[in-house]
Amino acid sequence: MHSRKLSLGLKEQISTLMDTPVGNCDSKEKLLEINSKVITCKICPRLSEHITLISANIPKRFRNDLYWAKPVPSFGDSNARLLIIGLAPAAHGGNRTGCMFTGDGSGDWVAKALFQTGFASSSISRCKNDGFALKDTYITAVVRCAPPHNRPTSSEITNCSRYLSSELELLDKTVKVVIALGHITFQTYCKLIGLTAIEFHHGGKFSIKGNKVLLSSYHPSRQNTNTGRLTWRMWIQIFETARIILDS
Ligand code: SF4
Repeated sequence: MHSRKLSLGLKEQISTLMDTPVGNCDSKEKLLEINSKVITCKICPRLSEHITLISANIPKRFRNDLYWAKPVPSFGDSNARLLIIGLAPAAHGGNRTGCMFTGDGSGDWVAKALFQTGFASSSISRCKNDGFALKDTYITAVVRCAPPHNRPTSSEITNCSRYLSSELELLDKTVKVVIALGHITFQTYCKLIGLTAIEFHHGGKFSIKGNKVLLSSYHPSRQNTNTGRLTWRMWIQIFETARIILDS
């Protein structure tokens, strides 16, 4: 299991995001190196300014929180067979807590689904010290800085894809199932691996090179879950499918 225990210095904080007891230590070190670069990255001026602005305008409900307000590192098992790719941290979710899919509605859906299908130790992921731990799973994103209106520009996606591309290379040997959350994530992932002939739809299941399966899902944003565009049943089926593939 790969737990998060963070009230340490920056380097130690990143290191505790990935505890790899056995196996691919080389990948673990290299993933840590990527995360070290990510958290100090300022390649996209619009996003660097935006995350600074967010922490200068903290809503009342989070007024006692110390915002992370930096690019958010990926985390999980460096030997993972399941890879989850999101779009970008949310202003008051990952950008606040410093951990992807942690501390907001999307994070609640991700944690609950992972727990119900055996990919996490608990169904709650609200902050870095809550004991939430991934099993056989790695979580990353297309863009690491919270964008205005949750919409990164194409140049920001291109800029940040360098990190995702390096992670895909390092995780390639072990990952068997990739879950792409949302249309933009799906398109970006397909472009990075040279896939052009498939279209995004919720519940898509595609055999891709390297003996892997790509599953496509709507993103569990409030916009999708509150409107019923993405129901719990539709969502959990994605993770149940991943579990069946990995157990077969
Ligand atoms: S979005 Fe990615 S490339 Fe752009 S500043 Fe943030 S970490 Fe760097």
